Amino acid sequence: MSAYDVIVAGAGPAGSMAARLLAEGGARVLLLDKQRFPRDKPCGGGVTLRAAALQDIDLSPVIERTIHGTRFTLRLGEAFDRHFEGPLSYMTQRSRLDAYLAERAAEAGAEFHDGEALREIDPALNGASPSSRTVRTDHDAYTTRVLIGADGANGLVGRTLGLRTEFEEAVALEGNVRYTADTAADWADVVGLDLGGMAGGYGWVFPKEDHLNVGVGCWKYAGFTLRPKLFELSRRYGFAESSVEKLRGHHLPVRVPGSRIARGGVAVVGDAAGLVDPLSGEGIHMAFASGRLAAEEALRVLSGEAADMSGYEAAVDRELQTELTVSRQLQEIFTFAPPPYMAMMRRSDMFWRFFCHLIRGELTYLDFVRMIGPLRLGMDFFAGVAEKRRLGRVQSGLRLMAAAGR
Ligand SMILES: Cc1cc2nc3c(=O)[nH]c(=O)nc-3n(C[C@H](O)[C@H](O)[C@H](O)COP(=O)(O)OP(=O)(O)OC[C@H]3O[C@@H](n4cnc5c(N)ncnc54)[C@H](O)[C@@H]3O)c2cc1C
Repeated sequence: MSAYDVIVAGAGPAGSMAARLLAEGGARVLLLDKQRFPRDKPCGGGVTLRAAALQDIDLSPVIERTIHGTRFTLRLGEAFDRHFEGPLSYMTQRSRLDAYLAERAAEAGAEFHDGEALREIDPALNGASPSSRTVRTDHDAYTTRVLIGADGANGLVGRTLGLRTEFEEAVALEGNVRYTADTAADWADVVGLDLGGMAGGYGWVFPKEDHLNVGVGCWKYAGFTLRPKLFELSRRYGFAESSVEKLRGHHLPVRVPGSRIARGGVAVVGDAAGLVDPLSGEGIHMAFASGRLAAEEALRVLSGEAADMSGYEAAVDRELQTELTVSRQLQEIFTFAPPPYMAMMRRSDMFWRFFCHLIRGELTYLDFVRMIGPLRLGMDFFAGVAEKRRLGRVQSGLRLMAAAGR
């Protein structure tokens, strides 16, 4: 039975980041993924500048477009474009990005087994004093001191080890549209964002090398609207329903602050920990960030500096969750009444530039809170009211549906 210091289950952006940094730090690492690579994953493939900045490797071999602006619409109405003098985000395809990141982890010394799923974990691995324990895959059995669950939304590691990370669930649906000569030039360096038309989410048009990715996301309870909304968005931009190919959907888990993401020798990262940014729906940024924090803590456990992985949870709460909590509040406030914010996006350079600096990583949500000073109290209040109103509407909608079904 082969022995490792750390096993990382899942080779998405979170897992490959953790595996590469651990291997670079001298650990014996096994990176597993149940799928054969290259594999696709439902995702818009937008990597913001702030996300890319967390990688200390060159992503340019897998970048298909560099985005400098946004084409905004409010509920699929009139469009307006805003441009920035520098890049805002990169467009890739997950089949390419994830294979590339897993290769870099392997190059750094991690053993990468694709097409091998984690199946069973010795529950003692999350005990108070973690020691080497057995995990089983569908091919073999291994021992490890630390297990990092990077196995995505609804991953096995969190479920099996009773971490019971609590999520608020969002869902998204996307498809691809082939370019025509006109659309390729029209979307050369802008993304389309349609705001205000989805419960808690938005619609997007993301340009890739040989196609456009179109998608919509919202809270799970409004999931039944995804399909009609995706086709409405496609038609709005002149793409016939029949031209939207490869429809695929997936969950976007949003962590309830304070819920468990580490215990003993086990930690969950990325989507497995629910670290999606609620306002932007962006998950790659926090997948990189949490993969990095988990690798740092695992190296401390291996060197005897830390007794277990609990320092990882504390670091996420301190460095990432504080950001995500503000994002969650802004999401409630924005979706309560989008028109005034869209008007500001159109007319106020300050507002637009703040948005650009945020996705470039030059400002953070906490910087925004510092900038508004005592108005923070108003923000807390308004976000609370907006959330209560939304939940009230959802409850009455569900009651009406139940009454209609009776
Ligand atoms: C439709 C849609 C569009 C999105 N668009 C964007 C976007 O444009 N930009 C952005 O930043 N975020 C986007 N997101 C969010 C983003 O895709 C995720 O947040 C991100 O993939 C999380 O990365 P991860 O490494 O945590 O998990 P994943 O990328 O989900 O990787 C998990 C991996 O674990 C593997 N796995 C699962 N179970 C096992 C097992 N038992 N054993 C071994 N391996 C296992 C899976 O095969 C998978 O490869 C989008 C999400 C959706 C649903």
